[in-house]
Amino acid sequence: MTSFDLHSEQDRFNEECAVFGVYGSLEAHVLTALGLHALQHRGQEATGMVSFDGKQFNSYRGLGHVGDNFYAGSPNLEALKGHVAIGHNRYSTTGLSEVRNIQPFLTELAFGQFSIAHNGNLTNAERLRTSLIETGSLFQSTTDTEIIIHLTARSHHADPIERLKEALMQITGAYALVSIVDNKLIGVRDPMGIRPLVLGKIGTAHILASETCALDIIGADYIRDIAPGELVVIDEKEVSSQMIAAQKPSRFCIFEYIYFARPDSTLEGRSVYQARKQIGSELANETAVPADLVIPVPDSGVPAALGYAQASGIPFELGIIRNHYVGRTFIQPTDAGRTSGVMMKHNANQEIISGRDIVLVDDSIVRGTTSRKIVMMMRAAGARKVHMRIASPPTTNPCFYGVDTPDSDKLMAAQMSVAKMCKEIGADSLAFVSINGLYRAMGETSRHIETPQFCDACFTGDYPIKEAFSPAL
Ligand code: AMP
Repeated sequence: MTSFDLHSEQDRFNEECAVFGVYGSLEAHVLTALGLHALQHRGQEATGMVSFDGKQFNSYRGLGHVGDNFYAGSPNLEALKGHVAIGHNRYSTTGLSEVRNIQPFLTELAFGQFSIAHNGNLTNAERLRTSLIETGSLFQSTTDTEIIIHLTARSHHADPIERLKEALMQITGAYALVSIVDNKLIGVRDPMGIRPLVLGKIGTAHILASETCALDIIGADYIRDIAPGELVVIDEKEVSSQMIAAQKPSRFCIFEYIYFARPDSTLEGRSVYQARKQIGSELANETAVPADLVIPVPDSGVPAALGYAQASGIPFELGIIRNHYVGRTFIQPTDAGRTSGVMMKHNANQEIISGRDIVLVDDSIVRGTTSRKIVMMMRAAGARKVHMRIASPPTTNPCFYGVDTPDSDKLMAAQMSVAKMCKEIGADSLAFVSINGLYRAMGETSRHIETPQFCDACFTGDYPIKEAFSPAL
């Protein structure tokens, strides 16, 4: 989901989200609350749920974490009973943290009520929104998701699902959608399958979720990933499937494996944890350096550091301890806030660090704030040498498909060489895994130049969707 900054012409996307849906359980609201809780890492700013009990739609949307809004005995949750429910977690770093932008949206169209929730970003949103507004649409939110509602409303098809399909034909970008239409649960993935969506089952109920960790929490069985360009319709009889677009080569977001997804999830047949360990192992093979200890930057660097330690034979130690009661570094919207966030979050385990040559492993460098602080912290704790190793290639390009990244002018690797970055963060050496090393970690022999197996635009600038917001296209 994207927000439009109504005060700026050239809006930037700043949202990452989670979606979840259930059909066929009288506990649909409880399962959705639990699923959203498991997906909290994908969005911490706001949460919402819409349910349908056969007669009536119910909706609740609130700022804050899932547990702040949906808890045992919470009246919000009690009011959401129904046999079908969808939910959403929202993450935003813009100033548009408004209740009107919280999903799922619930709206009244010609055929009845319609609810939708979205993870991803539409790349032709600005053009569509402008043309819809010029021709009379009244927008209630500043999100791109609402465009899908207006396009569905304008379709002349009699069948509500055909109307939604007509809307989907007009959008481009990255999306994993869940929707309640005509007493059915719908799930859709964009034609390149950039954002994840999986199908599961518990008893007779079917589940849609951004990641498999949300199936685990409710004891549901994983059935399969929704395919790129696939739309599934789930009702009491069946799960039916159709393709909304000619299938394009899959370009799943490689950053889901590097950082974004939970390590206990399996996406597109790959364990996120194993992928991260394997990246660490490639990193060790490519960037070996003599050292006493391998230290992960917790939590995101842990599996890669383990892989690095196993491949290099250098002992693994927890040299940095993380305080878990502070949100992700990115949550604070100002630079000052992010800086203090790093200090609040991590502390050196001095006993382990002092007098040692260490290899620090993190998943990525974005602005360089974390690396700078952590290297300084390691030196203050008495480290002799600090070698920084990064389990992704340099992040040189912003994401336009649903992962929060700043513009190029704030991306450290877009602004300077690796040697200069090393100097800036104060490390003795700095090295990143290569793009082919990353692909090898994914089980590929190398990155295919013509049609890469993943979306890796943040590292290569090779944007798979040739639409607005893809620079120089
Ligand atoms: P920075 O401090 O700006 O260099 O950001 C790098 C740190 O933020 C790393 O430790 C990553 O684990 C984490 N990170 C990377 N990408 C993101 C993202 N899109 N949202 C939140 N955190 C991120």
